[in-house]
Amino acid sequence: MSNSILGRTGISQQVLIIGGGLIGVTTLFELSRRGVPALLLEAGSELAGETSFANGGMLAPSHSEPWNGPGILGHLVASLFDPDAAVKLRLGAIPGLLGWGLQFVRNAAPQKFQRAAQANYLLSTYSAARTRQITLDHGLQYHQSDKGTLRIFSDQKAMDWPLQMARTLALMGLDFEVVSPAQAIQIEPQLAHSNISIAGGLYAKNDGVGDAHLFTWQLARLAQKSGGEIRLNTKVNRLVQEGGQVIGVETDGAMIRGPVVLAAGIASVKLAARIGLQLPIQPAKGYSISVEAGALGEDQPKIPILDDAMHVAVSPIGKILRVVGTAEFAGNDLSLRSRRLVNLRKVFTRMYPQLNEQLDWGTAQSWAGLRPMSADGVAFIGAALQPGLWLNCGHGHLGWTMAAGSAQLLVDQMLGTSPAIEPAPFQWIR
Ligand SMILES: Cc1cc2nc3c(=O)[nH]c(=O)nc-3n(C[C@H](O)[C@H](O)[C@H](O)COP(=O)(O)OP(=O)(O)OC[C@H]3O[C@@H](n4cnc5c(N)ncnc54)[C@H](O)[C@@H]3O)c2cc1C
Repeated sequence: MSNSILGRTGISQQVLIIGGGLIGVTTLFELSRRGVPALLLEAGSELAGETSFANGGMLAPSHSEPWNGPGILGHLVASLFDPDAAVKLRLGAIPGLLGWGLQFVRNAAPQKFQRAAQANYLLSTYSAARTRQITLDHGLQYHQSDKGTLRIFSDQKAMDWPLQMARTLALMGLDFEVVSPAQAIQIEPQLAHSNISIAGGLYAKNDGVGDAHLFTWQLARLAQKSGGEIRLNTKVNRLVQEGGQVIGVETDGAMIRGPVVLAAGIASVKLAARIGLQLPIQPAKGYSISVEAGALGEDQPKIPILDDAMHVAVSPIGKILRVVGTAEFAGNDLSLRSRRLVNLRKVFTRMYPQLNEQLDWGTAQSWAGLRPMSADGVAFIGAALQPGLWLNCGHGHLGWTMAAGSAQLLVDQMLGTSPAIEPAPFQWIR
């Protein structure tokens, strides 16, 4: 059976997209723009209300390495006993993580890890370029800025591994500079007052930042203008199969027919499992605090700074400063743990003590989201084994960076047109 969604007449059926986050909406946009009828079904009352709501905003191909770098097992075990560990494994989550966890650790082997980082880098750069093109073509405004990102390190040794990784990615085009503490301050003058001792940094000039939530909403409007349909408050309860083929979905009120794109973030796992498809994806919880920073005027930091040791970034997104990061393997738990939020505040205070005083933290908004993290750190983009079902899920810590490119890569495969990047690393079987 052909994988393409084009029927024999050349007219395609309406495609059903499950999930209205970054990944589902960019898929809707891409299908609609190519004249394919598509209907997006979103369980919530708004688009981008889950993991795509208040993320770090970084369009950052330079962050392409998966999170299971060599030595991850030791870090995770140690984190069980350290409540403040930047990457934290919670005891209660271990039973649910067993199969996935073994794969996660196995994929930390140097060759597999490098391959995953390279695949991510190709998709990320392709995707960031596509995001910029869409922005230009349609005059989108989502507080975007393209001045790079800076990763800072408190000791030289901690920089060794990321530097090695950056050099590998540089062979594929990553434009980065190793910077001294003085150069770091030149790039971001607000670091001059920092209490973090900076031994050096990696400056990725072509990274950017922007409000992913705002982008998603604007893109949804464009998709609707091209004929794409969106139904909010419509939860898909299950995928419907007939003779081994996925023929549609069942919602509370109806059965809707059509080929299906699974783009439901972390919820993709449950929906897939009900038809026997075990997606190796687990939630990696992260937090953010967004604080109004309009009063800072010219003092507003210009680019995202990532404190590598703490796994925390401070991103300027328009007139907001967003402190974001940490990873907790704690199952499907969205509770806001005050200790994690306090840690984010501490990093901010150390990074920008002078700005800390000027901000009204009383009105700041705290948030947590679940990164859909695949066991090898690479997303699934392409046909599932079951005909009629397509996957666009598991984008982990880089879903914003990869969204526009993933949609293009998927739709190329759905329409049987030649993708601009090699789809093999993102296939279900790889
Ligand atoms: C703290 C944090 C910081 C991050 N920072 C960055 C960053 O700086 N740069 C970057 O590139 N990425 C970042 N990310 C990652 C990025 O936000 C995610 O990869 C991305 O949002 C995932 O998008 P998604 O569309 O797959 O999932 P989601 O945004 O979660 O969307 C899935 C949607 O599916 C809907 N849904 C679920 N089940 C059903 C159902 N049964 N029926 C219908 N609808 C359903 C949900 O309601 C939801 O709206 C960050 C993530 C976190 C948590």
